[in-house]
Amino acid sequence: MARGTIVIDVDRCKGCELCTTVCPQGILQMSQGGFNARGYRPVELVDPEGKCTGCTLCALICPDVVLTVYRYDPRRAQVVD
Ligand code: SF4
Ligand code: SF4
Repeated sequence: MARGTIVIDVDRCKGCELCTTVCPQGILQMSQGGFNARGYRPVELVDPEGKCTGCTLCALICPDVVLTVYRYDPRRAQVVD
């Protein structure tokens, strides 16, 4: 299965929590550490076990285009020295 990760444009997030409700892996949560430049608690990825599949559901539901998804497909990977 492809693996993925996301990049969060933290200061665009309005803390609506929608993305946290759709992630099948349950690896999105609202920040416990503070607020962004707009005064909201932004979402953060907590994925120490590499569970993100790059499914894009979080990015698709986000109304503010905060999330960019990257997918790694090992079948296409090449070893580079
Ligand atoms: S791409 Fe999918 S698995 Fe990864 S954080 Fe978003 S919803 Fe979760
Ligand atoms: S859906 Fe978008 S705006 Fe809402 S919490 Fe997630 S990243 Fe932030």
